[in-house]
Amino acid sequence: MELEQIWGNVVAMLAEEISEVSFNSWIKPVKAVSITDSEIVLCVPYGVNRNMIMTKYFSLIESCLEAVTSKKRSIEVIVSEDVEEKPVNNESSLNPRYTFDNFIKGKSNELAYVAALAVAESDSPAKAYNPLFLYGGSGLGKTHMLHAIGNYYLENYPDRKVLYTTSEKFTYELVSAIREKTNQAFRDKYRKVDLLLIDDVQFFAGRELAQEELFHTFNALYEKDKQIVLTSDRLPAEIPQIEERIRTRFSSGLPADVQPPEYETRMAILKSKLQSEYLEVGDEIVAFIAENVKSNVRELEGAVKRIVLYAGLKRTNRITLELATEAIADLMKTQPKRRITPQVIISEVEKYYMLPGGSLISKKRSNDVVLPRQVAMYICREILDNPSFPKIGESFKRDHSTAMHGVDRIRKELGDNPDLRTAIDEIITNIKRD
Ligand code: ADP
Ligand code: MG
Repeated sequence: MELEQIWGNVVAMLAEEISEVSFNSWIKPVKAVSITDSEIVLCVPYGVNRNMIMTKYFSLIESCLEAVTSKKRSIEVIVSEDVEEKPVNNESSLNPRYTFDNFIKGKSNELAYVAALAVAESDSPAKAYNPLFLYGGSGLGKTHMLHAIGNYYLENYPDRKVLYTTSEKFTYELVSAIREKTNQAFRDKYRKVDLLLIDDVQFFAGRELAQEELFHTFNALYEKDKQIVLTSDRLPAEIPQIEERIRTRFSSGLPADVQPPEYETRMAILKSKLQSEYLEVGDEIVAFIAENVKSNVRELEGAVKRIVLYAGLKRTNRITLELATEAIADLMKTQPKRRITPQVIISEVEKYYMLPGGSLISKKRSNDVVLPRQVAMYICREILDNPSFPKIGESFKRDHSTAMHGVDRIRKELGDNPDLRTAIDEIITNIKRD
């Protein structure tokens, strides 16, 4: 008998023996890899599956196998995650794991998602969408979307050329190309593509050589009507140390933001990730996790991983509230509810504008400090519990009239500067994040 046939018979017997839910969760994902006279090797997708097989189904499988083949064999269970991660596509550097299919759409990423899909589906770039500029905080799915665009595009247009890179890789390759005198090969690589995807362009800040090269790459692609998609943790206007002509290029298409996932999206993401781990988790427990892990999707994934781990240790696939609490206790600890004080606001504003700590309470009155300082005053007034002007002024080592003037100036400016509104909203999100 062939391996496939043997395993098929074993599976048929197992289906008679155990409940449908258990069968679907634990037996279905099992693949038989090889068989010898003494041993059968089985492969499962995750560690938790292996644990379940070893603890609950081992002897059952053993006896079914013996019944089918009339021979006693030992069973080896390996985890495929460790064995065969899907390889990254060499030519395009695209990671096949990141697709639109496994990306959860929600209010927080809707605009970016729709724009990304539009770009991925279109066979030539619409001027209005070129470049598509995806921006937002860390762990919110920008890299995932970038790969998804490339993968989807290649599916539709298999003959086209797609290239994924990061600003750091681009810079590194450029420097190597100059050193090894392979500039032309470098240029060809980046200028002869139909779709160029560059991740984390904020790291071009201060790298003049790379910016120069990027500028020409951009122009070459534009001239040929090729699509460019960029990601960044902030808007072009807020990337420091970047040439004006690059900033203009970055801003000339469609900027689309990704926000931290709101409650419903967190629920949906958690459910989808738990399901792909074959875990049975009640809605109230998913809700518990969604209420306690908020800042970004990477952390939600971390929570799921921890729950898988704990489920494995406890040899169960029924996740109780107790187990979930235990599993994510550390994660919850790292998100202490910090009390919002003027100091917290000041330090978040400094971080956002990439200013050295202490700049806002210093005596400095240069332009790069004055606006952030007034923004911080405005935010104090907007979100603190008891924001009197003398109190705000005091936090900045200034008097109440300076605080009043600062808040007033921002309020006026907000009227005709939507970018400022975006910036302030983003800072407030950062402040409330943890
Ligand atoms: P960023 O590049 O914005 O820092 P990533 O794209 O690296 O974030 O996302 C972090 C992790 O979260 C990745 O594993 C990604 O697959 C996952 N992720 C982010 N957003 C979503 C989403 N909406 N649906 C499913 N998975 C997501
Ligand atoms: Mg990223």
